[in-house]
Amino acid sequence: MQTKIQMDRIKKIALVAHDNMKRDLLEWAKFNKGTLATHKIYATGTTGSLLEKELGLKVHKLQSGPLGGDMQIGAKIAEDEIDFLIFFWDPLEPQPHDPDVKALLRMAVVWNIPFACNRTSADFIISSPLMGKDYARLVPDFEAYRTRRIENV
Ligand code: PGA
Repeated sequence: MQTKIQMDRIKKIALVAHDNMKRDLLEWAKFNKGTLATHKIYATGTTGSLLEKELGLKVHKLQSGPLGGDMQIGAKIAEDEIDFLIFFWDPLEPQPHDPDVKALLRMAVVWNIPFACNRTSADFIISSPLMGKDYARLVPDFEAYRTRRIENV
């Protein structure tokens, strides 16, 4: 069984980049500033500050990633407060918050939101005709899971 979650024409977009990837994300965001400005932008702390400073974008900033920002974004995905993720994680360096990174990516898959982890995917996603439209995304109906029988209880 599946249910639907409505995504508005104005998307709630989270932007996150690890330190070695921040330049890449800033360049991508600069190129797409016109589009991004028509949506609601969230970001982890440092990424958000850079986006505000260099692009003048209005950003809802969360904690810095290693201090809990990735987990805040994951929680917002679960609460339907974020419906779109651009996450340039660093494939060549371990991070102190690697478990949080994994958890965030997992939430994106659980809740079936569009997400891109490199620049080409981000280009394809943001240029989709669906960006400027309402969209009902399918998610499993988790009711059966919520009401599952627990043995010995
Ligand atoms: P930052 O966090 O934007 O605060 O640097 C990014 C991350 O490491 O997840």
